[in-house]
Amino acid sequence: MTRVVIIGGGPGGYEAALVAAQLGATVTVVERSGLGGACVLTDCVPSKTLIAAAEQVSGVERTGAEEWTTCRYGAPDFAVLNQRIRDLARAQSRDIAERLAGEGVDVITGTGRLVAEVGRGHRVAVRHGTGESVLEADVVLLATGARPRQLPAAVVDGERILTWHQLYDLQAVPEHLIVVGSGVTGAEFAGAYLALGASVTLVSSRDRVLPNEDPDAAAVVEDVFRRRGMVVANRSRAASVHRTNDGVLVTLTDGRRIEGSHCLLAVGSVPNTEDLGLSEVGVATTSAGFVQVDRVSRTTVPGIYAAGDCTGVLMLASVAAMQGRIAMWHALGESVRPLRTSTVAATVFTAPEIASVGVTAQAVASGAVDGRAVTVPLARNPRAKMSGIVDGFVKLFARKVTGVVLGGVVVAPKASELILPVSMAVSVGLTVDELAQTFSVYPSLSGSITEAGRALMNAIWDD
Ligand SMILES: Cc1cc2nc3c(=O)[nH]c(=O)nc-3n(C[C@H](O)[C@H](O)[C@H](O)COP(=O)(O)OP(=O)(O)OC[C@H]3O[C@@H](n4cnc5c(N)ncnc54)[C@H](O)[C@@H]3O)c2cc1C
Repeated sequence: MTRVVIIGGGPGGYEAALVAAQLGATVTVVERSGLGGACVLTDCVPSKTLIAAAEQVSGVERTGAEEWTTCRYGAPDFAVLNQRIRDLARAQSRDIAERLAGEGVDVITGTGRLVAEVGRGHRVAVRHGTGESVLEADVVLLATGARPRQLPAAVVDGERILTWHQLYDLQAVPEHLIVVGSGVTGAEFAGAYLALGASVTLVSSRDRVLPNEDPDAAAVVEDVFRRRGMVVANRSRAASVHRTNDGVLVTLTDGRRIEGSHCLLAVGSVPNTEDLGLSEVGVATTSAGFVQVDRVSRTTVPGIYAAGDCTGVLMLASVAAMQGRIAMWHALGESVRPLRTSTVAATVFTAPEIASVGVTAQAVASGAVDGRAVTVPLARNPRAKMSGIVDGFVKLFARKVTGVVLGGVVVAPKASELILPVSMAVSVGLTVDELAQTFSVYPSLSGSITEAGRALMNAIWDD
């Protein structure tokens, strides 16, 4: 039987463990904090629960700017909300533990690291408490994830100066939250806390928020943020964050000062790879410390695979899980399709949400991809009108001549649900004609996807 040792029990690790166990391997997961990983305990699951609560208290807000002022449900008891978030995360972690146990996977609580191999196979040393044991393995999967990046001039104290790991210990909604960093994490929290009743200042070092998203989509979200009263400080780089008597002071590189009650640092993540013994066994990393992998999750050492945030390929739970599964299918001799990042759907959970898949508008506009793009505003969709939705659009990209769908962007409430048909079209190579001829329900927001398909079909015919 193949012995598989997995270091890290997040989605990259536990999904791989399930596949390996189902394929008959002997599987051990080494996890130092809790099953489900940062995804379940501190990152994805808690943040999406917070955002869901924010959507509920501001449920009428999506029907238009005027109704934002009429908050029907009032502010939640924030301490209770945070308790629910932590409980839900722990419950999900327990579910994963039960599932792994049900599949016969061994879970060891401890910190794993690779040690130089003796003879055939690999060895993983596990430190637990005061002791250390060594596991022999034919296949090792590294799935150690990442942690919040910190800034030397902004010392996190867990009370006023926070990373997203500490947010769920807050007992009350911050009076004035300054969010440093306007990438996906910063924008999501800024939007959620605004909806929950905080004053929010979003400090963005770039020209606009969400610099890695579709520019039109980011512009919609930034516009909505401002209309709802958020202060968005663009082209503003934080130089330092300090505690004051009753709050925080953020000093920008140009000398401007912003005072608030709390500061959330959302300036990216760094991989958990420094104490893994990688150089000892010859596993190559990038200059930023990410484990180098190919599209079937192989590292530079045969038999050692890596998945998820520690590879930096695309820092998403869905990608981590797929990389982990691919690694096990490959290692255990199953036929496997290499990871295709061009088919990965992702969402920014702001209100409205931005969901996207496939090529970017920039790639089409620059000619790097020989494509065509159309945009259909949501405001002309009948269902959107009924619901008072004014912000958002559907953008579709297709290859010229053949009309094969290459990607799309949806900006809408629940765009995360609406992107699936576009995602499927990209994944299986549907043409815009096929998308255009698909029935959508009348009236529905997804009608804008088929409408965009028809518009793109006509544009390609006219070329
Ligand atoms: C605020 C936030 C919101 C997010 N929201 C989403 C979202 O909505 N959708 C989405 O797809 N993605 C989201 N993500 C990204 C997602 O959380 C990550 O991509 C995902 O957690 C990666 O999974 P992983 O298995 O690689 O790592 P992790 O989930 O980080 O798990 C790694 C595990 O390895 C353990 N570990 C590390 N080193 C060792 C060691 N030496 N020995 C033993 N154990 C070790 C850690 O304790 C951890 O439990 C979000 C991220 C953040 C920060």
